[in-house]
Amino acid sequence: MTTPAFCQQNHWVTRFAPSPTGPLHLGHIAAAFFARRHADHGGQFLLRIEDIDTVRCRETFIQEALDDLAWTGLHWEKEVLRQSERMPLYQETLDTLRLKGLVYPCFCTRADVAREAAAAFSAPHHTPDGSLLYPGTCRLLDDAERARRIAAGMPYALRLDVQKALDRLGTPSLSYHELGRGPVTCHPGLFGDVVLARKDIPASYHLCVTHDDAAQGVTLVTRGEELRDVTAIHRLLQELMKWPEPVYAFHPLLVDSAGKKLSKRDGALSIRAMRESGMSPEEVRKAAGVTL
Ligand code: GLU
Repeated sequence: MTTPAFCQQNHWVTRFAPSPTGPLHLGHIAAAFFARRHADHGGQFLLRIEDIDTVRCRETFIQEALDDLAWTGLHWEKEVLRQSERMPLYQETLDTLRLKGLVYPCFCTRADVAREAAAAFSAPHHTPDGSLLYPGTCRLLDDAERARRIAAGMPYALRLDVQKALDRLGTPSLSYHELGRGPVTCHPGLFGDVVLARKDIPASYHLCVTHDDAAQGVTLVTRGEELRDVTAIHRLLQELMKWPEPVYAFHPLLVDSAGKKLSKRDGALSIRAMRESGMSPEEVRKAAGVTL
């Protein structure tokens, strides 16, 4: 099979897109340098702050992240996008999909989803990223009932009708190109009707990340391999919105001595703490497995 022209370039536009919900740790440094390295040879390396979750994200984490990244020796393009400032753009995308009849309001609580899923399936079904498969309860509501619930002030999320979207595209599966691997077939249907706008935030990770990668002209999306499967949903959104298709590259996750993923929640040692303990940028890069 021949490699499509868009895979043959080597001046990639890449980005590092942290969510500032805690201090940066070594996994972030490894991910940031992975993206930066692919933008060598005349590409561009962008930084984007994914701070739509205004409850969990903090301004201090953003400032510290920028400072830590610069301290470790990273340089990025001047403009740093913040997703929290881009809500009207995400709304436009939602409106486009709504006009195509591809999104619907979902009033279910987590408990509703668990109960309906147990009733709908003989065994619990999960999506590739481990969430409970949504059984489509609210997809079946008629317009009058939707209007009644919205008028009554019931909170709702917006879900993508994935089957309808695939039917519209005339295909049950899509594909993406992984750098060094070639075309990979993916099945958005395995995710069920994903949430595109949360009840508490009028947007979602899938919506914002694909919107912004397209808007910023990112040609190579790099991320941890634990996010490989969600590429199926991102490809679906790109096809529906006629956004350009990027190439993908996935990096292995850094794990702790017990083989567990480093995470802010579990108190992985922060870059800040390493700096305060007297480590040099070079030592921190080395601990993250980064070679310049
Ligand atoms: N903001 C996401 C995170 O911090 C990563 C963005 C992406 O998927 O590339 O997990």
